[in-house]
Amino acid sequence: MRGVDESLRVTLLLLRDLGYTHLDLSGAPASPAVEVGAVTARAPYEPGDPDTATILRVRSFDDLREIALPCLRCRLAGTRTQVVFGTGDPNADLMFIGEAPGRDEDLQGKPFVGRAGQLLTDIIKAMKLTRDDVYIANVIKCRPPENRNPEADELDACRPYIRKQIEFIQPKVIVTLGKFALQSLTGKSHAVSSARGVWTEYDGIRVMPTYHPAYLLRTPSAKKDVWTDMKKVMAALGINHES
Ligand code: URA
Repeated sequence: MRGVDESLRVTLLLLRDLGYTHLDLSGAPASPAVEVGAVTARAPYEPGDPDTATILRVRSFDDLREIALPCLRCRLAGTRTQVVFGTGDPNADLMFIGEAPGRDEDLQGKPFVGRAGQLLTDIIKAMKLTRDDVYIANVIKCRPPENRNPEADELDACRPYIRKQIEFIQPKVIVTLGKFALQSLTGKSHAVSSARGVWTEYDGIRVMPTYHPAYLLRTPSAKKDVWTDMKKVMAALGINHES
């Protein structure tokens, strides 16, 4: 913002931090008698809507999506482009649960569509399935700014959504991808390197923790471990990957 008067610069930075994305100067008189017109705002963060009881009372998957899309339960509502609810078959036997949307997911409104998503798609294909055969969601539905780690209160605010999604889908198996998915769902805060490959449980449903695909992009040598874990999942679902 070179050339911008300091107090104006401070005001603009403050407005940005409050969630404003641009100034609507239409109708403002031409310079030099500039008057700043109405400021167009993205809804600023107001905690609360919808409350947990409302989410837990929801009776259908579609209603759950409907109340999730305008969610204002945490500060991520102020910086997201859109809520990334989840995609796939709401009657799937297998559910993949990741951490939070990144930039591509935030723009497209779908989970795992960036580079890590391509790798997840390849893993699903190697399991003789398609993305339409499974359900894919995240424990956090809105992109954290700059893809930072989710904070504890954000995980808490979003947890009723993933719980309800699981309750409606009733998958036979859940695969958690990375530490935040495992932690948010089961409360287990072990390193994924020690938790992976060992069956655990959420609400009577078998859970297979494994590495996050973004970790595999950085550490390709861990792909064989994920494949070992996915073979256990296929066996549990009666999928013969040799055929
Ligand atoms: N990483 C995640 O955990 N989820 C996504 O949807 C994309 C990247």
